Amino acid sequence: MGAIEKVLAANAQFALDYDPGLVSPRPRLGLAVLTCMDTRLSRKALGLGPQDAHIIRNAGGIVTEDVLRSLLISHYLLETSEVMVINHTDCGLMKASEESLHARIERQAGLPPSSPVHFYAFRDVEANVREQLAKLDAHSWIHSGLKIRGFVFDVRTGHLREVLR
Ligand SMILES: [Zn+2]
Repeated sequence: MGAIEKVLAANAQFALDYDPGLVSPRPRLGLAVLTCMDTRLSRKALGLGPQDAHIIRNAGGIVTEDVLRSLLISHYLLETSEVMVINHTDCGLMKASEESLHARIERQAGLPPSSPVHFYAFRDVEANVREQLAKLDAHSWIHSGLKIRGFVFDVRTGHLREVLR
């Protein structure tokens, strides 16, 4: 069975006891988490249940225009008041430069990108977290009532450590 078929079978089971009256679009903890899509970073690692937080993920846990859009919706429309920005050790984006990522993918794809792609490769994970915090802090719609803190998840120990601005 392919992965999607497996998901569809699991969903059919899930829907049997699904009760829309028991779920809300508003995160129970008023929390939004921006993190990397890396499989080692799980809800379980953060002690979060399925309705506790908005989890916004992309490669690296980078504040892009789209992430900013999601965080603003999360805060202004869905009442979240705390944000965690979590990057992690051993991230794939630390292992290559912007140029080498482009070269590698272009080689595999066999043609150049049809639209510009920026991968946000980085070297220093703590500096990268600080950079994401600075991008958020600089936006006029991000105000002091929204608590934003940065962290690094260590994939060897499973611990989060805070990165101070
Ligand atoms: Zn990563």
